[in-house]
Amino acid sequence: MKELILCKYGEIALKGLNKSNFESVLCKNVKRRLQSLGQFSVTRAQSTVYVEPLEEGIDMDEAVERLKKVFGIAKLTRALEVEKSMDAILNDTMDYLALAFDGYRTFKVNAKRADKKFPVKSPEICSELGHKILEQFPEMKVDVHDPDVTVTVEIREKHAFVNALRIDGAGGIPVGTGGRGMLLLSGGIDSPVAGYMIAKRGVQVQAIHFEAPPYTSERARLKVEKLASEIAEYCGDIFFHCVPFTEIQETIRDQCPEELFTIIMRRLMMEIAQRISAKEDCAALITGESLGQVASQTMYAMVCTDAACRMPVLRPCIGLDKSEIVEISRKIGTFETSILPYEDCCTVFTPKHPKTRPLLDDVEKAQNSFDFDPLIQKAVEETTVKLIKKFV
Ligand code: ATP
Ligand code: MG
Repeated sequence: MKELILCKYGEIALKGLNKSNFESVLCKNVKRRLQSLGQFSVTRAQSTVYVEPLEEGIDMDEAVERLKKVFGIAKLTRALEVEKSMDAILNDTMDYLALAFDGYRTFKVNAKRADKKFPVKSPEICSELGHKILEQFPEMKVDVHDPDVTVTVEIREKHAFVNALRIDGAGGIPVGTGGRGMLLLSGGIDSPVAGYMIAKRGVQVQAIHFEAPPYTSERARLKVEKLASEIAEYCGDIFFHCVPFTEIQETIRDQCPEELFTIIMRRLMMEIAQRISAKEDCAALITGESLGQVASQTMYAMVCTDAACRMPVLRPCIGLDKSEIVEISRKIGTFETSILPYEDCCTVFTPKHPKTRPLLDDVEKAQNSFDFDPLIQKAVEETTVKLIKKFV
């Protein structure tokens, strides 16, 4: 039994000229994701990517699991390739259909003839296969309006394909068609979700993390690397930049008013992230901020943070409730790691009474009373980078 996976594109932001670029990036992403499982042929026709194993014994369940996380694919179908004859369509498909019908009661058959020379017409294909199914699976009933399972027979140039097993894909747009962005990744729940959401819109995400040893431990950093590898299942390989931030934080603590500590720290984080983005050709910053969640995430605080930014700051969680963010983090598999109790540099010197309505003038004055530039430059120079790969 030879099985193929058919991947149907989702949203076609890709009509017209963009389509071919979209398709070739999607095929490349599919290939890369499956590479370590064995040899596959990945081809495209009629808004479908055909994934065909070229070796015996390839783990097709795992291949499907991986493809479910490739953005740009709306639906996946596990299809059976059979010889192009009615005999094969009626007789070689029964084991496969048994799997597809498991747990369901109603079905209908659809037929599509890309090859119009095939001697049997679509309605006859449907009726012959329908009768065979009723005979073979007496518990199944026909329902042409709202069937549990739709069995589709496609007659193509060389083979016939039968498919009935349909699976939801990740949706979105292929990663890499929308440029690069720099995700400020903490160890919390929100920022991994933010990275996932922006990657879903086609952006190749890199991650930047600020650490403050010895206030933050190596284990805390490893936790964040783990989160990066978890979102890499969706985002693809991720460059992970780690910034030594201790000296800057201690300096803010010593030089600036306590109630402005957080906002100044965030502005300096943004400054460093932008300098690294410039080197890496990233066009936007991405954060996990959500309006009103904490003092530094009020609109007034964001005015002060954004004033330090020369590039757009994408905040895809901005209008989500915590419970909605948690739901996504569970779905993408980062939640359990996010709730592990390690420290973050943001919580090291948090003021007792942070200003929820800081004035930009006050913040700029306080920040300008000390020349942070040499420290910023040093932090950028001492930033380390590694490539986090999910599937090797
Ligand atoms: P998260 O759950 O993502 O940690 P949070 O609700 O804890 O978010 P904050 O700690 O205020 O919120 O951080 C807001 C955003 O700033 C985070 O979503 C993240 O994008 C960024 N950020 C916070 N701490 C760090 C860090 N140590 N390194 C990189 N980015 C950070
Ligand atoms: Mg946090």
